[in-house]
Amino acid sequence: MFNKNQKEILQRSNVKLKLLSTDRLFDIANSTVDEGTLSDSELIEFLTIANSLYRGGEQIISDAEYDFTFTSELRSRQPNHPYLNGVEPESSFSGKTVDLPTQMLSTEKAYSDDEIQTWINRIQKASNEIAINFDDLVFRITPKLDGFAAYDDGERLYTRGDGKRGTDITRVIKRGLVIANSGSRGLGAGEIVVSIEYFQKNLSNYFENTRNFQASVVKEKELEKHAAKAIKDKAAVFYPFAILPSWEGTYKELEDNYDATINDIWNSVGYDVDGIIIEIKNNDLKKYMGATRHHHRWQIAFKKNAQTAKVKVLRVISQTSRTGRINPVAEVEPIRLSGATIKKASAHHYGMVKSNCIGKNAVIELVRSGEVIPKIVKVLEPTDPGIPELCPSCKSKLIWDGDYLHCTNTINCPDQITQSIEHFFSTLGNIDGFGTATITKFYKHGIKSVLEVYQQSIDDFMNMDFGPKQSENLYNQLLRSRTEKIEDWRFLSAFGLPRMGAGNCEKLLTNHRLEEMFNLTIENISSIDGFADKTATFIVKGLKTIHHNFNSIYELGFNIERTPLMSELVEDGKLSSIIGKLIVFTGSMKNGSRSNMQVEAKKLGAKVGTSVTGKTDFLVTGDKVGASKIKAAESKGVKVLTEDEYFLMISKK
Ligand SMILES: [Zn+2]
Repeated sequence: MFNKNQKEILQRSNVKLKLLSTDRLFDIANSTVDEGTLSDSELIEFLTIANSLYRGGEQIISDAEYDFTFTSELRSRQPNHPYLNGVEPESSFSGKTVDLPTQMLSTEKAYSDDEIQTWINRIQKASNEIAINFDDLVFRITPKLDGFAAYDDGERLYTRGDGKRGTDITRVIKRGLVIANSGSRGLGAGEIVVSIEYFQKNLSNYFENTRNFQASVVKEKELEKHAAKAIKDKAAVFYPFAILPSWEGTYKELEDNYDATINDIWNSVGYDVDGIIIEIKNNDLKKYMGATRHHHRWQIAFKKNAQTAKVKVLRVISQTSRTGRINPVAEVEPIRLSGATIKKASAHHYGMVKSNCIGKNAVIELVRSGEVIPKIVKVLEPTDPGIPELCPSCKSKLIWDGDYLHCTNTINCPDQITQSIEHFFSTLGNIDGFGTATITKFYKHGIKSVLEVYQQSIDDFMNMDFGPKQSENLYNQLLRSRTEKIEDWRFLSAFGLPRMGAGNCEKLLTNHRLEEMFNLTIENISSIDGFADKTATFIVKGLKTIHHNFNSIYELGFNIERTPLMSELVEDGKLSSIIGKLIVFTGSMKNGSRSNMQVEAKKLGAKVGTSVTGKTDFLVTGDKVGASKIKAAESKGVKVLTEDEYFLMISKK
């Protein structure tokens, strides 16, 4: 049952139990009920309540459980769920609700080095787009304080609230709370924190945890006497982000000393820290990258799960994926980790299994870091790894390709076939009832392709031991998948070719029609922005292998919705003629300032550079531009335009 404080917090934050009973909520919190068995809506209700209680200082699960068990469950089910992209609200406190002086956004979170790398790649891409030298960019790293978020405008202190409107809690300053490191007022966003050492020595008998203490400092009711003393002793402070200890340097410098740098910053303050924040300092790039509704794109928080577990491997099993790659999965002795029972762990590939000697009875260290199946971080006691020689599904001989083992039997490997069929239907997304069990049953009755699935009648399904109702349903769903509208890029990506996921398919189809796909050359594809030669080669090769199969399925007649071609959009005046082009402006312009022209060009979808390279599309020249500069640009294949020619080009429809 909720205690009095918890009830109060839920009431204040206007959070109610709708789907879950109180008993069930606590069963989930105490891990009697596995999070995997919750429906999406139940999971979100649980997260909302857990978050609200946590922020109010009366948590029912730990921070790590919140991040690495429940949120990661939602992330794995629905990576784009709005809950994950909303600003986590502080629970409301009594006081006047006011508009915050500036919007306080949340921070994008990364839970693995891979996610950090993806973010770094985005920074690199954006800096290329506006011709800033990535190697010179300065990164700033600060500790991510785990306190009570607030904003200090110099006169008043506000809670973060929902990011736009917060509550006036200036009373906390009036109670004597000082700024950390004798800092000044008015430094903007920060956190109310308490010294860990002080808390353990003086407060831990009176408060359950630091969160609980911070909330009590902010509360309207009279200060508890130990809390008042902590403020007087300057153990509790408001710490503005602007004056946090930090590391600054280029990416190269960071890369050279990554672990030590992160470790130093993580441990640089004596307050609760649950991660680090990495951001870039260049204001032009910050402005260019901007923000989503949730977070700034130029900043990321890195959170690491400190909870690891040592466990014994029972055996390593191999699984054949849709593409023929053999994935090793270690079955381990069941163990509790970050609030969940773990029975399996993933090794990246057989190269890792081989080099780290992961086999039966090996002892490994695991961490749950955002994925459902935890990763093996370390092998403590290696054993004989036992590398499979045959495909677990079709028994054909496996071959090595780099670190990966592959089954090359694309024609007859049951797992590859059934997973490809399943991939087709799940990508279409307009058909129900074609899950693993159904498709495995099809396969047992000799159905080995999507085309054959479409050729079955209701009677055929009944002969495969599906009931009359289900048989009719399967048949009707197949009809539905052909009559309901489907985007061409979705249809194409359903064939599951390497490098032809939804994003790449859509890009291809904004440049060429679906009917032209099979005539495209490597040059056709690599000339599209975002396709490297290697990708183009993969795509052309892959398309050849499915040409016949594609035609047979396409001819069944689908209701395909065509992606408008870029060229058509330009013609219709829906897109400017410079969209996606890289333009450099030089010389002094007669129709307004150069910086205005740059801003306008960006609004029309162009990328703006500051120096001419082989990737530049247009050099727009004002007055007093040297002939050598123009010549150099032309020699790189850049089209040189006068200011008038440029305006003529963008005004054309
Ligand atoms: Zn196989």
